Amino acid sequence: MSVLGVYGVEHVSSLIYYGLHAMQHRGQEGCGMVCVGEDGKMKRHRGAGLVTEVFNEQKIEALDGHLGMGHVLYTGAGARSLDNIQPFYFHHGTGDFALAHNGNVVNAELLTECLERRGSLFHTHSDAELLAHLIKKENPEEPRIFSIIYALNKMEGAFAFLIMTKNRLYACRDKYGFHPLSIGKLGDGYVVSSETCVFDTIGAEYIRDVAPGEVVTIDKKGIRSSFYSQETKCKMCAMEYIYFARPDSDIEGCNVHAYRKESGRRLFKEAPADADIVVGVPDSSLSAAQGYSEASGLPYEMGLIKNKYVGRTFIQPSQKLREKGVRMKLSPVRSIVNGKRVVLVDDSIVRGTTSQRIVEMLRCAGATEVHVRIASPTMTHPCFYGVDTSTLDELMLARMSVEEACKRIGADSLAFLSYDSTLHSAAGRTDMCLACFDGKYPTPIYKSIEEANK
Ligand code: SF4
Repeated sequence: MSVLGVYGVEHVSSLIYYGLHAMQHRGQEGCGMVCVGEDGKMKRHRGAGLVTEVFNEQKIEALDGHLGMGHVLYTGAGARSLDNIQPFYFHHGTGDFALAHNGNVVNAELLTECLERRGSLFHTHSDAELLAHLIKKENPEEPRIFSIIYALNKMEGAFAFLIMTKNRLYACRDKYGFHPLSIGKLGDGYVVSSETCVFDTIGAEYIRDVAPGEVVTIDKKGIRSSFYSQETKCKMCAMEYIYFARPDSDIEGCNVHAYRKESGRRLFKEAPADADIVVGVPDSSLSAAQGYSEASGLPYEMGLIKNKYVGRTFIQPSQKLREKGVRMKLSPVRSIVNGKRVVLVDDSIVRGTTSQRIVEMLRCAGATEVHVRIASPTMTHPCFYGVDTSTLDELMLARMSVEEACKRIGADSLAFLSYDSTLHSAAGRTDMCLACFDGKYPTPIYKSIEEANK
């Protein structure tokens, strides 16, 4: 999922359209936009599908204004219905407002139960709707920033929220800083985005990140900062670097391509392979494959081609769709891999489906050996923070050893990047969330892993 807000510039709906398109890799099941028109009224359009399918010129023009926000959705934890397409838009006596979020609130069930007991009725399972209820439940007459701070203090987990009124935008990030949220300057206005690649797309200039625990208010007075919590940590999701973000995005000062390339270099040092060529799995593993190739001196070859018009397998919601997705998405280049010993570099192994299919494809295309190198540690735990890495039962490396997994995917050898290298590939980082690799969840998770696995 990702959020995008634009304040104080002309043609916000077009800018949001292009910005959402640049973040399409973070969710392909639905998207939406709410903008404030010159008459001060909010207008919304949302729908299932890709940004180019949901919006056309007419719809973009109809939404135009000077302030707006957008969202792309993948139905991860707690959001398996298209009712959950954001932004949400609420009417209220104190003023209409819109909300969108990225992440997952881990105590959402508990908070929902408390609110329902006090009369709230929920239309969706989304954390954005939960935040709306929390904001409005206590002291709705107070200045909104107090109700927002009150509401965020009740929430635990990973979240980046955008809240919009007819003349103001609030950008909020959880106190662990799980997922990125950055601020850019565009003319006299501002842009807030889940990824910095959006800034280049729409011509904005990066200013800074929203800090963990911070609520940034953007209005005609400019930018103001408040903190809903002083107990902040830096637990950026490692999977943002490894898989999720676009290579041209920077996350807390580290470029994603540079991170992946460094992880590839380290991967070679930790797990060299006697081979002829290095092949990366497009797209998120290409940078790591380049790093592996540079460090090893083995030529980097385009041994796999991606059909750009098929979605990412990892975020397809069912196993059947994922398997179909792999076959439609990737093709081996026979003239390159035939008769070669291949080092296949991939970003991660989740269920093992993709790796198995790719190894099989490369062998069918004539590869004599396939040595799989993974630019992250073994994934052994589910994520509770909004990244749909799957349940414990489905995670291949939670159920079997590296040797068994190697056999299962049909590779000649299999090796993973160490924890240390996963952290230190991001120059200057001293900490991040690696819970899906080591089970050390930075927050309470409010249920046992077995419960969560049901
Ligand atoms: S558990 Fe894994 S996927 Fe989830 S936030 Fe932590 S590092 Fe990211």
